[in-house]
Amino acid sequence: MTTQVYYRKWRPLSFSQVVGQEHVTTTLRQSTKQGRVSHSYLFCGPRGSGKTTSARILAKAVNCLDLQDGDPCNACTICQTINDGRFMDIIELDAASNRGIDEIRDIREKVNFSPVQGSKKVYIIDEAHMLTDAASNAFLKTLEEPPGHVIFILCTTEAQKILGTIVSRCQRYDFRRIPSDLINQRLEEISKEEGVAADTDALRLVSRYSAGSLRDAENLLEQLAVSYSEGVGIKQVEELLGLGHSERWLDLVTGLLTGDASGALGVINQAAWDGTDLRQLHRQTLELMRSAMLLQWGSGGPSGPETPVDLPEETLTQMKQLVSQAPGWRIIRALKLWGEVNMRYDAPSTLPLELAAVEICDYEASAASAPAVQSQPAAAPAPAPAAPRQPPSRQAPPSARAPEPRPPARRAPAAAQRDVPPMP
Ligand SMILES: [Zn+2]
Repeated sequence: MTTQVYYRKWRPLSFSQVVGQEHVTTTLRQSTKQGRVSHSYLFCGPRGSGKTTSARILAKAVNCLDLQDGDPCNACTICQTINDGRFMDIIELDAASNRGIDEIRDIREKVNFSPVQGSKKVYIIDEAHMLTDAASNAFLKTLEEPPGHVIFILCTTEAQKILGTIVSRCQRYDFRRIPSDLINQRLEEISKEEGVAADTDALRLVSRYSAGSLRDAENLLEQLAVSYSEGVGIKQVEELLGLGHSERWLDLVTGLLTGDASGALGVINQAAWDGTDLRQLHRQTLELMRSAMLLQWGSGGPSGPETPVDLPEETLTQMKQLVSQAPGWRIIRALKLWGEVNMRYDAPSTLPLELAAVEICDYEASAASAPAVQSQPAAAPAPAPAAPRQPPSRQAPPSARAPEPRPPARRAPAAAQRDVPPMP
């Protein structure tokens, strides 16, 4: 489904409406306000973070007849023409589909013509890193001597792929991944306006799943609203995303962090049997284990601010309970080993997950030789916050590192090989 109505309908029309990029929008507003606009910009950042939207707002601001504190007024004839998509002096080029030299030649030929409707002609080049080398070089020539009435805005997710000579001629702005609480806030506003009956936890899951892309989040919300008109709960989100069941993620993490290998293997196999996307299972459980780490070490304390753990209320309670029982070294060990599992295959098998699960859990047996680490937190189910923090972290290195017997035989042949005189 690619209707994207919400995304277009709720697209910000001014800098002040752009979510989570104040460091960029404040500067841009200042520069339009003072009339100190550059002739070329580079907007870098992850997808869905507001680059193209901001480019359009900037294009509108430089043409607006009644600028409001650096923001376009959205009321003058120019702003209205732009918002209706009828403005001829904003030219958008999607370099992902028009990456060749012909498009750039076309720009070079027309760039000298004065704007038709506004005072500035603005070229927005999306996915600018997709331009071919020839096209990039041709474009560079245009950038070197741009006419005064032209502004170029290059948007890209991969700035490192753009010619250094192009980058150095642009004013660069780095967009950030939008924090999930800001995405969540926006989704709540949209749901309210659109009359979508969505649970708080459902929206939070959508926000987290979108990984900093407001566009993805808005599109997901729309799909949910269309697919589940009777109401959107966490179950519906999981169903739409093929996430399996969140209780399952928690069961698996519980197995891993408490050293219950057979429990963990059972969950993995049940998930595979049910057709759950194993990559999602992997990703979501990894996220949960990261939360476990943050709960163990990042929760405020005298040294710094609290790292927020973004989980549904119920899951958070269960995770806190789990963290109070799991030894700190195992959280780290689990995160490392689980994080190393490669799930990039098209149809990943259960084997890599099973292997990692056993590796994480089976340490139990050898850890018995270092009882201090293992028994201490388990003996006190609800220790004071400081109690679990110190002992596991300090004692982690000796216990978490498995003894690695190195076969001495491997050394000898290697050395012998080196001693062989080179063939003539
Ligand atoms: Zn205006």
